[in-house]
Amino acid sequence: MAWQPADNRYDTMKYNRCGKSGLKLPAISLGLWHNFGETTPHQTKREMCRTAFDLGITHFDLANNYGPPPGSAETAFGEILRTDFAGYRDELIISSKAGYDMWPGPYGEWGSRKYLIASCDQSLKRMGLDYVDIFYSHRFDPDTPLEETMMALDQIVRQGKALYVGISSYNSKRTKEAAKILKELGTPCLIHQPSYSMLNRWVEEDGLLDTLEEEGIGSIVFSPLAQGMLTNKYLNGVPEDSRAGKHVGSFQESFLNETTLSHIRSLNEIAQNRGQTLAQMALAWVLRKGRVTSALIGASRKEQVIDCAATINNLEFTEEELTAIDQYATE
Ligand code: NDP
Repeated sequence: MAWQPADNRYDTMKYNRCGKSGLKLPAISLGLWHNFGETTPHQTKREMCRTAFDLGITHFDLANNYGPPPGSAETAFGEILRTDFAGYRDELIISSKAGYDMWPGPYGEWGSRKYLIASCDQSLKRMGLDYVDIFYSHRFDPDTPLEETMMALDQIVRQGKALYVGISSYNSKRTKEAAKILKELGTPCLIHQPSYSMLNRWVEEDGLLDTLEEEGIGSIVFSPLAQGMLTNKYLNGVPEDSRAGKHVGSFQESFLNETTLSHIRSLNEIAQNRGQTLAQMALAWVLRKGRVTSALIGASRKEQVIDCAATINNLEFTEEELTAIDQYATE
C-alpha cells in the first residue's frame, strides 16, 4: 500500500508568515544540500522526507547543484515526489536556486538571464515538476547587472515556472537594490536566505535583518546548527558518520578547536537547563523575537529531524539565558 502521511501532521508545527506575503512557512524547514546525493541510500532520504512531512515540515529546500553529483538531490527528491509525496504537491513548498557552478562554460554559473532560465528548466525536469514554489538567485553576481538577474527571476514567475522569488546571501545594500527592482517589475521579493547561527551573526552586523523587516521580506536562515557544531554530536570526539568525520563539503574538522568545543559544552549545559537539546536551543535562538520566518536545517537521519522539529515546544528565552549564550557563542 502507498505510504500515507500522518493524519495529525498539522497539529504541532508552528507556521510563520513570510514577510508581508500571503505565504506561511513552517518554523523548521528541511534542506537537501547534504545527504541527498548518490552516496546516501535512497531509503534514508525517503525516511527523512516522510518524517519531516509527518511533523508538519511542509518546506523542502533544494538547489541545482545539491548532490553529489550536482543535480542528484533534485533527482532523488523528484523520485520521492512521484512516490511517497504523490498527491500532496499542494501541501508542499519546494524551492530551488541557481548561482553556483553547475555546468561547464560561461553560462553554467552566476547570475545571467541565460543561466538562470536554463537552470530553472533543468531543475523542473529533474524533479518532474511544472513549477517550484520559490526560485532563488543563489548569490549576487558582481559582473551581471542586477536588473538582468532580477528580470530573469521575474520572467520565471511570469512563465509560471515559479510562484515566488528569493535571493540568497545578498548583503543588506544589494538586498535593498534587488527588492526595489523586483517591486518595480511587479514580482516582489518573497524571501531572503542567508546563513545565521549563534556562531555566525553577520546578518545582524550587516543590518540585513533590519532591511528585511523594513522591506517586508521574509527570511529562512541556513546552517542554523553551524553544520552540526551546535549539537551534542562533537562533545566527545568526531563520529565517523558525521559531516566532519566524512570530510565532505565545506566543513572542516579544524572548526572544532578546543576553544570552540569548550564553548559548545557550555552552551550544551544552558540547553540542558532549559530542558532542550543543544540543537533545539540553537534553532529556538535563530527564531527568537520572531524576526526569522524559518530555520532551515539539514539532517543525515530521521531522528535528527524529529529532534529539530520538537524545537517549537520551547521558543522563549529569559534575558539571563540570552546573556549567557552571548558569553559562549562568539565567532
Ligand atoms: P545545519 O546547520 O542544520 O547542519 C545540518 C547538520 O547538523 C546535519 O547534517 C547533521 O550533521 C547535524 N544535525 C542536524 N540535526 C541534528 C540533531 N538534532 N542532532 C545532532 N546533529 C544534528 O544546516 P546545513 O549546513 O545542512 O544547511 C541546511 C540547509 O540550508 C541546506 O540543506 C540547504 O538547503 C541550505 N543551505 C543554503 C546555502 C545557500 O547558499 N543558500 C548554503 C548552505 C546550506 P551530520 O550530517 O554530521 O549528522
